[in-house]
Amino acid sequence: MLALLAVLGVALMVAAALLLRHARLARRLALAIGRVADGEVAGAALDVGDGDLEPIVRAVRRLQEARIRRERALTLERDEREQILAHMSDGVALIDGAGRILHVNPRAAELLGLARPGALGTALPEAVRAPELLELVYRCRASRRVEETRLTLWAPNERTLRAEVTPLSADPDTGVLLVLQDLTESERVERIRRDFVANVSHELRTPLTSLRGYAETLLAGGLDDAEHRERFVQVIRDQSMRLQAMTEDLLSLAELERPGASLRLEPFDLRLLAQGIVASFRDDAVRRGLSLSLDSAVAVPVTADRARLEQAISNLVDNALKYTEQGRVLVRAGALDGEAWCEIDDTGPGIPEPEQERVFERFYRVDKARSRERGGTGLGLAIVRHIAEMHGGRVTLRSEAGRGSTFRIAVPTSFTSR
Ligand code: ADP
Repeated sequence: MLALLAVLGVALMVAAALLLRHARLARRLALAIGRVADGEVAGAALDVGDGDLEPIVRAVRRLQEARIRRERALTLERDEREQILAHMSDGVALIDGAGRILHVNPRAAELLGLARPGALGTALPEAVRAPELLELVYRCRASRRVEETRLTLWAPNERTLRAEVTPLSADPDTGVLLVLQDLTESERVERIRRDFVANVSHELRTPLTSLRGYAETLLAGGLDDAEHRERFVQVIRDQSMRLQAMTEDLLSLAELERPGASLRLEPFDLRLLAQGIVASFRDDAVRRGLSLSLDSAVAVPVTADRARLEQAISNLVDNALKYTEQGRVLVRAGALDGEAWCEIDDTGPGIPEPEQERVFERFYRVDKARSRERGGTGLGLAIVRHIAEMHGGRVTLRSEAGRGSTFRIAVPTSFTSR
C-alpha cells in the first residue's frame, strides 16, 4: 500500500511538473505569437526557445508569410484601383447607404467643387449643391435601379454633365456609385459644327439662287434680249467664281483642321516671298488705282511652311486691296526676338475696335454688302489665323475706323515641329 502510494505520489508530481511546463510554454508561445500579430517581431524571427514547439513555430511562420503576401497583393490592387480612378476623365464618387461620401476621385471632386479628402464622410446634400444630382441619388437608392440624367452645374464652373447612379446591390443599406461624364466640350464642338453647317448653307444659298434666277431669265427669252444678256452672263460668271472661291476656302480650312495636318517646313527668305506676292498682285492694284509696294530691303531667313505662309500673306494683301478705296498698300517684312513677321498696311476704311477680334472668326464681316460685292468669302482671315497658329505664331491687327488697318503675321524664325 505504502509502495503504491509512493509511486502514485511520484507520478502526480511528475504530471504536475509536466503540466506546469506546458502551461508556461503555452503562455510564452501565446506571448510570442501576439508580438508577431502586432507586428513587433517578424514571423521569421519568432523564437520560443524550446525545440518541442518547433512544429507550431513553423506553422505560425507560414501563416505570417501568407498574411504578408496577401496584404501586399491587396495593397497593390488598391493602389492600381486608386491610380485608375485618379486618371479617369469621368468623375466617380461612392456614396454609402446613409448618403455619405465614401470616395471621390479627383475628377469628381473638380466637377463638384469638393475638397479632397475633406469631403469624405460628409453627407452628400451638405457637399453638393445640385438638386438634380441629389434627387438622382435618392431615386436610385429608392428604386435600386440605374438612374441617369443630364444636368447643368453652375458652380464652381458652368458644366454640362451626364450623371449615372448605380446601386451596388439590391440591399437598400448598401451604397451607390455616381459616375459623372463631362459633356461641355463635346457639346461646344457639336454647336460649332452645327453653326458652321448652317453658315455654309446660308452662304451657298445666295449665289445659287442668283445663278438659277439668271439662267431661268435667259431661258425664258433673255437670250434674245441683246441689250441685257451679256450682263446676265457676267452675273452668272461672277456668282460661279464666288462659289469657287468659297469651295476653295472651305477646302483650305478643312485641310488645315484635319487631324494630323502637318507643316512642310523649309528654310526660305520671307522678304523674297513677300516680294513675289506683291508682284503677283501688282496688276490688281493698278486696276483698282492703288499703289502697292514692298518696303523692306533686308533678307528675313525663316524655317516655315512656305506655301501656307504664301497663302496667309496673299489673303492679307488681297483684303487690303479689296477694302481700300484709295491710297496705298504697303508690305513690310522683318525679324525681331526670334520671330519673323510680315505686315500689310493699308489706307482703307479701318476696322472699329469692337470688331477687331471678331474679323478672325469664320464668316464674320464688318461690312457684309461690301465683302459680298468684292467676292469675299468671310473665311480669309480665319485661314490666316489658323496658319499662324499652326506655326506657333499669331496674327494681330492695329486699326482705327477711317484710318486704315495694319495686319501683322508673326511666326518663330525656326519652328521645328507642331
Ligand atoms: P472676306 O472674304 O469677307 O474678306 P475675311 O475673313 O478675309 O473675309 O475678312 C473678314 C472681314 O474683315 C471682311 O469682311 C472685312 O469686313 C474685314 N476686313 C478684312 N481685311 C480688311 C481690311 N484690310 N480693311 C478693312 N476691313 C477688312
